[in-house]
Amino acid sequence: MGNVTFVSAMRDGLEALFVIAVGGMMWSVLVRLRRGDIEVVRCAHCGRPTSNAYPACKQCGQPSRPAD
Ligand SMILES: [Zn+2]
Repeated sequence: MGNVTFVSAMRDGLEALFVIAVGGMMWSVLVRLRRGDIEVVRCAHCGRPTSNAYPACKQCGQPSRPAD
């Protein structure tokens, strides 16, 4: 049955595409980080890099953004 070979070839192809897509995504994030397109959020209190995803600084526990 040539069908089984075809399906497994398809699966290998999809797997390769997936690896390429994930690799490309990571690569573009790295390139943008190096260019400075992605701004690193810095804590207003300790100046260390933190994330807007967290309400408080991961390093010092203070609110990462000053209250408006
Ligand atoms: Zn901090």
